[in-house]
Amino acid sequence: IIPRRFRENFSYFQPKSTDFYPPLSDKSGVRVLQWNLLSQSLGVNNDHFVCCTEDALDWKRRRNLLTQEIVRYSPDIICLQEVDHFKYLQKALGSQGYVGHFFPKPDSPCMYIADNNGPDGCAIFFLADKFELIQTETRILEVWKVQSNQVALLANLRNRFTGKELCVATTHLKARKGALLAALRNEQGKDLLDFISRHSEGRAVILCGDFNAEPSEPVYSTLTTDMGLRLGSAYATATGEPPYTTWKIRQEGEICHTIDYIFYSKNKMRVTDVLEFPTGNEVGKDRCPSLRYPSDHFSLVSDLYPQSITSAL
Ligand code: NDP
Ligand code: CA
Repeated sequence: IIPRRFRENFSYFQPKSTDFYPPLSDKSGVRVLQWNLLSQSLGVNNDHFVCCTEDALDWKRRRNLLTQEIVRYSPDIICLQEVDHFKYLQKALGSQGYVGHFFPKPDSPCMYIADNNGPDGCAIFFLADKFELIQTETRILEVWKVQSNQVALLANLRNRFTGKELCVATTHLKARKGALLAALRNEQGKDLLDFISRHSEGRAVILCGDFNAEPSEPVYSTLTTDMGLRLGSAYATATGEPPYTTWKIRQEGEICHTIDYIFYSKNKMRVTDVLEFPTGNEVGKDRCPSLRYPSDHFSLVSDLYPQSITSAL
């Protein structure tokens, strides 16, 4: 695995060890990892990655790369999409002190695949030594008051060291291109804001996910201009949105764009570090997934701290 660097105070720095990043020493901070893992069933059967070898999609190989990638950044909170092996992750991440919750899509495309491993969905894991669970909430996102096939999962957490409470939510919005689908995602975004507003009850919010929308799409503006939650994108604050969060080759060509985000309450938290993305050379000509990168999406990692004085104005 090629090491990736954190940008501390927005200038890159190398970790002491290239294999493992120590956890945040300041217990008031929170390191969040966001990742669309690539569902095993969808990756093998539906995605048709034309430059990806069979080996790279072998579950026994992929699962090790997936867990290594997650654990090496020592995140406090992990938000995942396209999870269709929750039990495996529970076991693997459980051994490292994480507790997880999962919410499947109501009509997951995985279920139409022979030998599937169950539906795919969203998951949240957190370090049980650092956070106490207050409650979890789930939502099947509605579009024009009708349930869609996309979900959100929310966990209210209390920091055991500082007593501060935090609302963590994750989602995976409807995929595919087109104006109608962008409008549909925007409606899902509105429903998501409503869901989070109802359950966050004034806590600082971290909203991570695969929004299937570039920054120019309406849903990005909807999420970042809401006057109630006041969400900002961690990477946008730190470095500007990255040029890509997913990079793959399908029959129709190369797909390389930014659709995954870590949003946070701008008036309650501040971003100190973000993890950089691999370069095109590191990714390699066949793009992802590959023997090196187990998903077609890259993980996003950000360090966030509570603001001592809230700048609500
Ligand atoms: P989405 O459009 O949100 O996509 C589902 C998954 O497909 C996502 O994980 C997405 O990944 C991935 N995806 C996106 N673009 C492509 C692509 N070009 N090629 C392959 N995979 C892609 O779908 P829904 O959740 O709305 O579910 C699909 C629907 O299909 C379900 O409602 C199911 O009922 C229906 N269906 C499927 C059948 C089947 O046999 N497959 C049969 C009958 C119904 P990402 O977000 O990373 O882009
Ligand atoms: Ca996918």
